[in-house]
Amino acid sequence: MTILKRNLWTLFFLILLGGLVLLGTVLFFRWQAIVSEEKLYHGARAELVGQSVDSILRTQELVLDVIGRELLNQDDMLSGSRQIPLLDSILAANPVLVGFGLARPDGTLVRVSSNLDLSKLPNLRTNPKTRDTFIRALSSGSMVLGRTYFVDALGSWVIPIRKAIRSETGNVIAVMTAGLRLGGGDTVFDETLHDGAHDTVILFREVDGFVQFISGEGIGPEQYWKVQESMAQRQQNREGLERDLGHSVEAMMANKEAVVVRTRRAGKDYLAVAVFNPRYQLWALSETQFVPMYRAFSVSLAQYLLVFLAVILVFYKWFRVIDTAEGKRRQELYYLARHDDLTGLFNRNGLLDRLDALLSGKKPFCLVVINIDNFKGINDRFGLEYGDETLLEFSRRLAGLVDGRDNLARLGGDEFAIVTQNADLAAVEKACVSLVGDLSRTFEVGRLRLQVTASIGVAAFPDHGESLSKLIRSAQLALYEAKQRRNDVCIYRAEMEMVYLRRLSVEQRLRYGLASNALYMMFQPQVDETEKTVGLEALVRWQDEELGIVSPVEFVEVAEKSGLMVSLGRFVVETSIYEYSILREAAGRSLDLAINISVIQFRQPKFVESVLEALKVHNVSPRELVLEITESLFMDDFEPVLATIERLREHGVRISMDDFGTGYSSLSLLRKLPLDELKIDKSFVDSILEDERAANMIRSIVAIAKSYNMELVAEGVEEEAQAQALIRMGCRRFQGYYFSRPERLDKLKADLALEVGV
Ligand code: C2E
Ligand code: MG
Ligand code: MG
Repeated sequence: MTILKRNLWTLFFLILLGGLVLLGTVLFFRWQAIVSEEKLYHGARAELVGQSVDSILRTQELVLDVIGRELLNQDDMLSGSRQIPLLDSILAANPVLVGFGLARPDGTLVRVSSNLDLSKLPNLRTNPKTRDTFIRALSSGSMVLGRTYFVDALGSWVIPIRKAIRSETGNVIAVMTAGLRLGGGDTVFDETLHDGAHDTVILFREVDGFVQFISGEGIGPEQYWKVQESMAQRQQNREGLERDLGHSVEAMMANKEAVVVRTRRAGKDYLAVAVFNPRYQLWALSETQFVPMYRAFSVSLAQYLLVFLAVILVFYKWFRVIDTAEGKRRQELYYLARHDDLTGLFNRNGLLDRLDALLSGKKPFCLVVINIDNFKGINDRFGLEYGDETLLEFSRRLAGLVDGRDNLARLGGDEFAIVTQNADLAAVEKACVSLVGDLSRTFEVGRLRLQVTASIGVAAFPDHGESLSKLIRSAQLALYEAKQRRNDVCIYRAEMEMVYLRRLSVEQRLRYGLASNALYMMFQPQVDETEKTVGLEALVRWQDEELGIVSPVEFVEVAEKSGLMVSLGRFVVETSIYEYSILREAAGRSLDLAINISVIQFRQPKFVESVLEALKVHNVSPRELVLEITESLFMDDFEPVLATIERLREHGVRISMDDFGTGYSSLSLLRKLPLDELKIDKSFVDSILEDERAANMIRSIVAIAKSYNMELVAEGVEEEAQAQALIRMGCRRFQGYYFSRPERLDKLKADLALEVGV
């Protein structure tokens, strides 16, 4: 069926062709039928005419025979009275005959019927018009027909008939001659045999082709000569006929077989059936022009053509309906394949088409890729319907801000793209920055008021990619960088490629490293003002065969973005707690174990349970555990994080805010958060001695910690002076190279044992 639909018009033309062939065949047989009908009709008529002529001639011959024999019995046959009463009485009884005469073998007429004037009649043997047949009559045993001619004396056209009267020894004594009248009486010679203007009956002689009689529209005896064919022409026709028949004309004449011939006369084609009369050597020809056959055929042609056209029209209409429906369906499919269901914007394919067209235009343009920040959070928190509504609203907003929907596409999920023919990167960047601003306005979805922000990556053609795939990749790389900061615009730069490749190889190797135990934990002691170890921060390490030592700052981020953070986090929590249990034993006392927790881990549904389980397995109390979180944890969804924190705290686990002061935490956030500890970021400690502002910042943090009753740890202490300054400011807990670098388990075990010893 699909093949049919695809080749619909081919099928139609096949049907049309088949129809034409059928029409041609039907018309061919119709023509054959018309011709054979005509053949039958003319065959029958030729036979009929032939027989009538034969019987009329035989009758007249008999009459001549009877008269001849009667006259032979008279002694004065050739010398008696010129008028013979017998002849007159026969004439009266036989209206076909006009005039009678008896001639001597030398051609002199000696007796005539009384309607003729003997003195005005010529010698039949010398008169050129009568000579040939007269001589033939002398030598023939049967009646001979003469040339049709007009007899002035009788005022009519006649066919002369002559028959020799012989003695018992066979000598010709006299020749009987009479005339058969044309158009008189009820005989075949009445000129009423033809049927219409194109129909003719012809009687002609075999010996010289002379036309004796014609019944045809508008042809009188004076025109017979026009119909008569030359001997050369006859010869040619005969040869053609013999070829068609496969045997000689003589054989045909002997069989009295009716023969169909096609002739051409005076530029007209005729179909004729001829029958030969051997006794009188006469051909009877019934013929018709092709015109009536053509006429009958034209009527059939018109009828069949009408039916054919009607059928084809029905087919055509039907196919048109199918084709239109198919076309509509194809258009719909084409549309669906290129448009996004939800927003009605171009989808990825639609965008690729658009980009393809621009690429072949060779004119510079920019591809802007937009991604909604933390769209997954909306889906997770409010459900897919809200997610869809948000996408719709976002796309409407985009459409309002961008010229022409043709330049806008949804690439899938929360990613959109804009194509702009503006090639001025600075202007595009400016426009994108304002777009980011416009997009972040709050909007309402149902009863919710939402605010979404977006990150934008821009790549320019041809500078950032000459091929479609390269250009899209460049824009995606720029977007990737923008996403790191969120709600930002980033134009592609070549270095991004390196960063991307590095990230890719870190991701690959880390996946392998996690599976092959290439990661391990180190612990950095936290000390009090007496430099006694009071806590340990667990820090993950990774030494890769190819990449060497990779900083956790780099690979933790890669793990977070590539889905590896869950297994990395599990490794960190379980190993740290296990190794801490060993260290605790070495130290002979409980310490605080601080573990860094990534946002991803925190969002795991069974996070709290997994931590408690690890603690239980290694017999570590939740009160010994401090989880270090960062402010980025609260960027997207505050409430669920808060709930997790509260559950952990209920079990006695403490929460520490790492790198405090570097993020955007506000006092109001702190108020809402149930924290146990703040870690002053290394950057403040670094410049505590020379930068008054850093010192002031630390003073404020100390004050905040005190007022909220939180523990305080200063990290990154590298010098004694820094430690002294921190002590002066009221800080009681420290972590840094000045006291100890992060150490491996064994080394730390020894150190702690030593401390116990001290
Ligand atoms: P962080 O949690 O702030 O960890 C403290 C970082 O400061 C550690 O670097 C530590 O080695 C370094 N540090 C401590 N004292 C000094 C000092 O006196 N001078 C200098 N220059 N550095 C000092 P590290 O181990 O490279 O970790 C960097 C960051 O990677 C961490 O910052 C933490 O955010 C992350 N990280 C490390 N281990 C883990 C882990 O197991 N899980 C998670 N989620 N993140 C981790
Ligand atoms: Mg930390
Ligand atoms: Mg830190």
